[in-house]
Amino acid sequence: MEPRSLICPHCGARLTPGPDPRARCEHCGTVSEILGEGALRTARVLEQIGLRLPEKPMTLDDIDAELREREAAANARRNTALVIVLAVLGTLALLVLLLR
Ligand SMILES: [Zn+2]
Repeated sequence: MEPRSLICPHCGARLTPGPDPRARCEHCGTVSEILGEGALRTARVLEQIGLRLPEKPMTLDDIDAELREREAAANARRNTALVIVLAVLGTLALLVLLLR
């Protein structure tokens, strides 16, 4: 597997991976999580459903909030589609009445 890009998300300096799953930036002191194999798989699955893992690890609450937001957006789109369908049907009904 290709080595993961170990770059400090804060300052862009190269990070030196140690035995720890976290790496401390020698430049600015930011501690970054280095994703393990399992976390990378999870990230790929999340990406497939349209969620991207940000630089900072997401908590389950964050993911939950994000999913709720998406659901609300999807509902809003469905409602808009319904209004359009009703408007088209209404127009057609009117045309039928007028052209009879
Ligand atoms: Zn840094």
